[in-house]
Amino acid sequence: MNRKQAEKRIEALRRDIERHNRLYYIEARPEITDQDYDALYKELQDLEAQCPDLVTPDSPTQRVGGEPLKEFKSVRHLQPMMSLDNTYDFEELREFDRRVKKLLPGEPVEYVMEPKVDGVSVSLRYENGVFMLGATRGDGTAGDDITANLRTIRSIPLTLSPSLAPSPPPLLEVRGEAYLPVESFKKLNARRERDGEEPFANPRNACAGSLKQLDPRIVAARPLAAVFYVVGACEGIEFATQAEVLESLKTFGLPTPQFWRRCRDIEEIIVRAGELQKIEATLPYEIDGAVVKVNDLAQWKKLGATAKAPRYAIAYKYAHEQARTRLQAVTVQVGRTGTLTPVAELEPVFLAGSTISRATLHNEEEIKRKDIRIGDTVIVEKAGEVIPAVVGVVMEKRMRGAKPFDFVKHVGGKCPACGGPIRRDPEFVAWRCENIACPMQLKRTLQHYASRRAMDIENLGEVLVHQLVDEDLVKDVADLYKLTVEPLADLERMADKSAVNVVTAVAGSKDRELWRLIHGLGILHVGEGAARKLAAHFRDLDALAAASVEELQQAREVGPVMAGSIHDFFRNPRNKAVIEKLRKAGVNFRAGAESEAPVAGGPFAGKTVVVTGTLKNFSREGIKDRLREAGAVVTDSVSKKTDFLIVGEAAGSKLDKARSLGVRVVEETALEKMLAG
Ligand code: AMP
Ligand code: ZN
Repeated sequence: MNRKQAEKRIEALRRDIERHNRLYYIEARPEITDQDYDALYKELQDLEAQCPDLVTPDSPTQRVGGEPLKEFKSVRHLQPMMSLDNTYDFEELREFDRRVKKLLPGEPVEYVMEPKVDGVSVSLRYENGVFMLGATRGDGTAGDDITANLRTIRSIPLTLSPSLAPSPPPLLEVRGEAYLPVESFKKLNARRERDGEEPFANPRNACAGSLKQLDPRIVAARPLAAVFYVVGACEGIEFATQAEVLESLKTFGLPTPQFWRRCRDIEEIIVRAGELQKIEATLPYEIDGAVVKVNDLAQWKKLGATAKAPRYAIAYKYAHEQARTRLQAVTVQVGRTGTLTPVAELEPVFLAGSTISRATLHNEEEIKRKDIRIGDTVIVEKAGEVIPAVVGVVMEKRMRGAKPFDFVKHVGGKCPACGGPIRRDPEFVAWRCENIACPMQLKRTLQHYASRRAMDIENLGEVLVHQLVDEDLVKDVADLYKLTVEPLADLERMADKSAVNVVTAVAGSKDRELWRLIHGLGILHVGEGAARKLAAHFRDLDALAAASVEELQQAREVGPVMAGSIHDFFRNPRNKAVIEKLRKAGVNFRAGAESEAPVAGGPFAGKTVVVTGTLKNFSREGIKDRLREAGAVVTDSVSKKTDFLIVGEAAGSKLDKARSLGVRVVEETALEKMLAG
């Protein structure tokens, strides 16, 4: 092939690949197999390798760019990115309609309803049809330049569709949401939990954390997606209505919301918003309601905006199981790896069947985003998750003088448990205590060591663990084996008999399986699944401890991050000392012949499962254990993230919910077959 031909072929391949991307990622109707797609991609890569000077930034091979950035540049938006007013009830939607009509006397008004996608807002600039710049919303006026990260998202076209050729608009700014598809979120979290990493709170958090990465290669490994529904600044192109915007963006090759409707009046909007809520679970992204927009863009201009939000649109948010109550205080919990989690201390309130007085605030970023302040009346929600969360503030009820919440100031710039230094972990937008001797981390480590998924030491509950650390009886996990009856019996609320029980239970843990010990040590990134694999591979704690990073990576599914973490753990002098103490105490370091098998890839591997009703052949905890052993993540309430609902006798509302969400329901006989493989 001569150069001329190569050039032509490269052109054709790029067009083809982008078209197949569109078919696959946006329209979900691929025309070729994955292998054929890979072949096209490979051919393009090879040709570009032969003619490096023909490589252009808009080539599909160039999605994941070079070096990690040092920091994000700030970019000013050509037009501000605004927030939306919102409401939870239809009466207020009608009120919005009346307001709009009053400002447009005598004019007919049509609306468009779109899903309110719960992702991360982004703004993209296309110049002459080529994707040039992508930014976060930031403060609405300026955001972070995250172009390199957005380029890795396959559903974002690097060049707008050829249907715009030969003269694409000189400037087109489009806005929408980046998101992590619910399915991918489930997989990512299941993997993180197995690897002993903290799971993300929700898909939105996972997406935000990913887009904050300075290394686009990490972003490329997370299958993010995006949808667009707004045109910002533009030149050389005009739109008359919002419906036209949505249709045009789609023909330009941009992903747009799947379910949107043009509506004659607000009553139709109300009907459509109800329909949208019914199909919510079938959408690839989470939504938190519907957005209602005036259709005619000339009317947008007339209606204008307040300082914060446009007057031509409003968000109608779905009410989940919610309650309102007062946020009395914020406490900060310290986790095993030192993560500081803010917790809302609430005036007790009845929510979804029980009285709650605490709810998670997730992290500093979420508090800022929702502008939650102490003393506020807040909205707490119990959605799919087990723990209730604060989802918003009732602004009308805010007290004068309420101050924005300042996380660092709140904890006095140090760990609330030990006073040690804290550091911000950018990915989790979380703060961590950096003191390895932090008593709170030690308490959590002991709890973890004793937990059922690790060394399974009965009678060593949370209260006792706190006492042991506070009374200085235990400084590390190995000290547990030195405990004797006497000082234990002296502890408050401890009788001789229970002290004996504790000592016996601790002694009984000396010959647990090796994977339990590996898991119990609490090595960062090493969860139960990984512990089982490591035990099966190395068969001996000393062999594991001696392994080089390369050797570690030879074990199944051990990546460089986990390998590095294990290696560091066993080189740390403190940990070495603990291991020696465990050896002296007589704790088993060897794998037995049986049961150190890695978790199989069966039907439950990586799946989210909920159990309800009474089973004949399993206790509730028993079946949960079996499912976890089969690789499942077992949770307590049904949501659209649930893969299977296991039902026994007298299943109640969970079954109805599972049916309405289309979650697969499995009865006991079928369950036994699935477990048996
Ligand atoms: P809020 O952050 O609650 O004030 O809501 C405003 C944000 O909702 C916007 O900045 C967008 O990022 C987001 N949003 C999600 N879906 C839509 C949509 N269909 N139209 C407009 N904004 C949307
Ligand atoms: Zn601390």
